[in-house]
Amino acid sequence: MFSDAPLLAVKDLVKYYPTSRGFLEPQRFVRAVDGVSFDIAAGETLGLVGESGCGKSSVARCIVRLNEPTSGRIELRGEDIAHLPESQMRPLRRNLQIIFQDPFSSLNPRHRAGDIVAEPLVNFALAEGAELDRRVAALFDRVGLRREQMRNFPHEFSGGQRQRLGIARALAVNPALIVCDEPVSALDVSIQAQVINLLSDLQRDLGLAYLFVAHDLSVVEHISHRVAVMYLGKMVEVAARETLFAAPAHPYTQALLSAVPVPDPTRRRTRTLITGETPSPIAPPSGCRFHTRCPLAEAICRQAEPELVEIAPGHAVACHLKKADAVS
Ligand code: SF4
Repeated sequence: MFSDAPLLAVKDLVKYYPTSRGFLEPQRFVRAVDGVSFDIAAGETLGLVGESGCGKSSVARCIVRLNEPTSGRIELRGEDIAHLPESQMRPLRRNLQIIFQDPFSSLNPRHRAGDIVAEPLVNFALAEGAELDRRVAALFDRVGLRREQMRNFPHEFSGGQRQRLGIARALAVNPALIVCDEPVSALDVSIQAQVINLLSDLQRDLGLAYLFVAHDLSVVEHISHRVAVMYLGKMVEVAARETLFAAPAHPYTQALLSAVPVPDPTRRRTRTLITGETPSPIAPPSGCRFHTRCPLAEAICRQAEPELVEIAPGHAVACHLKKADAVS
C-alpha cells in the first residue's frame, strides 16, 4: 500500500527537559521522550496516542524542530535533520508542517486570514502578485472556507474554521508530512468529524502523510493506518489500526481501549481499570515503566526494561509477558 522507503524515520529519539533547581541542588531532567523509534511512509497516517504527559506532543514538536531533540535521529527521506542548524533546516521546513490543538495561539491576531495563508508562500518565494492571490483563494476553497473570509481576522472565525485556516496555511507549501498535534481535541464532536474528514480527503487527493497525535482513541481509529501507543516517554505498542483495536497486546493499550465506548450496543468490552497515578517522568519506575499500575506485573517487570519486540508482522509490543510468543 505504501512505499518501502519511509518518508520519516525516527530512531532512538530522546528529549529531556531540565527542571528548575535550587542553589546547590543537582540538575534533574523530565525524561519526556526516552528512546522512541518509528517510521511513517508517504501517504500514511500514524496515530500516536497516550495519556497526557506521555511525551507524544514532545515527539511531535521535536520532529518539526520546534523543540531541540536531546539525542537520536530524525530522518526525512534519509537525511538526518535532528540536529541541523536552522540555516540548513529552513528549506526543509517546506516538507514538514504542523497544525496545533489551539490554532488561535499560532495565528497572528492582527493579520487578515488571507495574509496568514499567504505568508509561507511569500517566505519561501513560491508566488507573488496575482499568482499569490490565486493560490491563496484556491487554498480557501480547498479547506472549505469562503473566499470573502480572506479579509477577516482570526477572532472572527469559529474554532473549526480556525483549524481549517491552520490547515490551509500548512498546505500552502505542499508539504509531504503534516504533524497534527491534537488538532481536534478542543472542538465539538460534530466539528471534529468535519475536520477529520477534511484531513482524510486531503490525504487521498494530495498523498500527504500525517503523524496524528491524540489522546482520544476513537478519533485516532477514524484516521490512522497504524497506531503507536506511548507510556511515560516510551513506545509500548505499534500495530496496524485493525490489529490494535481488535487485539491489543500490551496491558496499557488494553486498558486505554477498554475505556472507549463501543457504538454497537450488542458488543461489550471488558473494562480494565488502571489504578494509581502516572509516575513522575523525572524519576520513572525501574524495569517496565508501567509496572506500578499493571495488573499483570511480575517480579521481572520491576527489574528489567522490556524491549519493543515484533510479536507478529507489523505488530510490536514492549512487555515481558509477550516475549515468549515473539516471532524470530
Ligand atoms: Fe505489565 Fe510486566 Fe508487561 Fe510491563 S512488562 S506491561 S509490568 S506485564
